[in-house]
Amino acid sequence: MKYSVDENGYYGKFGGAYIPEMLYPNVEELKENYLSIIGSSDFKEEFDKLLRDYVGRPTPLFLAERLSQKYEAQIYLKREDLCHTGAHKVNNTIGQIILAKKLGKQKIIAETGAGQHGVATATVCALMGMECIVYMGKIDMERQRPNVERMRILGARVVPATSGSQTLKDATNEAMRHWINHPTDTHYIIGSVVGPHPYPDMVAKFQSVISEEIMNQLEAATGSPYPDYILACVGGGSNAAGAFYHFMDNEKVNLVAVEAAGHGVGSGESAATTALGKPGVLHGSKTLLMQTKDGQVVEPYSISAGLDYPGIGPIHAHLFDTGRVQFLNATDEEAMNAGIELSRQEGIIPAIESAHAFVALQKLDLTPNDTVVINLSGRGDKDLETYIQWGKY
Ligand SMILES: *Cc1c(COP(=O)(O)O)cnc(C)c1O
Repeated sequence: MKYSVDENGYYGKFGGAYIPEMLYPNVEELKENYLSIIGSSDFKEEFDKLLRDYVGRPTPLFLAERLSQKYEAQIYLKREDLCHTGAHKVNNTIGQIILAKKLGKQKIIAETGAGQHGVATATVCALMGMECIVYMGKIDMERQRPNVERMRILGARVVPATSGSQTLKDATNEAMRHWINHPTDTHYIIGSVVGPHPYPDMVAKFQSVISEEIMNQLEAATGSPYPDYILACVGGGSNAAGAFYHFMDNEKVNLVAVEAAGHGVGSGESAATTALGKPGVLHGSKTLLMQTKDGQVVEPYSISAGLDYPGIGPIHAHLFDTGRVQFLNATDEEAMNAGIELSRQEGIIPAIESAHAFVALQKLDLTPNDTVVINLSGRGDKDLETYIQWGKY
């Protein structure tokens, strides 16, 4: 496949494994084994079974009739919001914990910003009876208290990262340090298509179940497995990578990614990486990231915690660089309005991350014959407080 990772872990100019030497053995062990493990019939059987019986897959592909009427196109929603735990993230944590077991690991560590990946990790650790430690910035723990308590109810230990800005970046550093000190018994579950090779490829493969299902469901609904457009929001890029995966080589399918513009791309408070970013190294891979002239990472901002990330996965940097994916962005205001519109038009309150993808409907030049699939990455329950604070409904 044209947009796949190469044997050195690169997508064009982006990717690789930029890690401290102390981490080589851990990452090397993964790199040597991940393809044979996830390609084995044993793995596939367990993964498919859990996706079906535990996560609730296949998630429906829903023809949104009122939205279709309004935007004059055939609009389908891929309902990842109906996954157990409320978003697509669990597809990846299920895949990684089965892989960890097959590698003989007994303990799991993870980092989390808003807590969504931490919850998805704590969930599968409870399911598998594995010890779970989640690193989280001390400030994020205060901001995201319900998710901290969810993880604790599920039996995970949440460890505050107290260095630096006490947010995601610092939690990642703490998790890396833990992994260096416990290389043999511990697996590190990364939550998006980010991190050193092979993580981006591994996470994209686990999430690719989304596009595999879209193809089957769309063919059953319309007679063709190929839509004209696929829309997805991008934080690190895992739900987008999953929704795009099986369509990347078919250039007739327009792939559209929507980033968070926060208060506006030029406002100094956004997370619109492709609009503002330059090549650099973030979390172990070469990618596009928002940085100052002297290479300091710029604090990102978005009203949605899951898009509040200063970079994008290397696969997306490459898809942007080659022009294969069109990148748009949506402000807080546009996303909140789109979230409320979806609630009113279809009776679905989306995660605010997912609401960003719906803003693209207004920015694309759609015609009535176009088939559009929007990846509805998560449900809005976790964002109720943000909707209430927003108030304009
Ligand atoms: C975490 C999250 C995202 C952003 O992560 P990606 O890796 O870009 O998919 C998007 N939507 C929801 C609902 C999330 O929880």
